[in-house]
Amino acid sequence: MLSVGSIVSPTVALRQRAEPFVGAIFDRGLEIRKADVILEKSYFINGEIMQLVCPHCDAVNRVLPERLADEPSCGQCHKPLMTGEPLELTEANFDRQVGNSDLPVLVDFWAPWCGPCRMMTPVIAQAARELGLKVRVAKLNTESEQALAARFGIRSIPTLALFKDGKEIKRQAGAVNYATLSDWVRSAVPV
Ligand SMILES: [Zn+2]
Repeated sequence: MLSVGSIVSPTVALRQRAEPFVGAIFDRGLEIRKADVILEKSYFINGEIMQLVCPHCDAVNRVLPERLADEPSCGQCHKPLMTGEPLELTEANFDRQVGNSDLPVLVDFWAPWCGPCRMMTPVIAQAARELGLKVRVAKLNTESEQALAARFGIRSIPTLALFKDGKEIKRQAGAVNYATLSDWVRSAVPV
């Protein structure tokens, strides 16, 4: 996390405004604009701001943690940053998504021909819905992404791996139910 914060919570400052406004986070805080006029700038001092990678266009966004539940949208493509659905990882987006995310990333290494993997499909979907504010839930098809499967030494599927700050911190092989998966994630990620 970047170490920044606010004198007055920028979220509160935004909500207190009656007139139409546009709020945008810049390097050192949040600025509130009406048309092209900057009405107010709040500077971050002590708190934290998160880097989130857009699941649609891979743009790196900065978001206040308290705004994660407010359906933040991407500054570049304007689509939702939090989708509640698993993200599809490929060679093209893996390093950008996993390496730039302040949310830990849970990766389900799977393949279409694997029966136990298909049993995990609803479990992963539930994880994306219910744990989505704590971890970015992702799927990686080891059949179409063989180079990534080799890079991470995936020997059996399904394999679940949890990445934090771009590094793998936990791994488990074999299918699990949602309760086991949820406990496994929560034991590694503060809730
Ligand atoms: Zn985007």
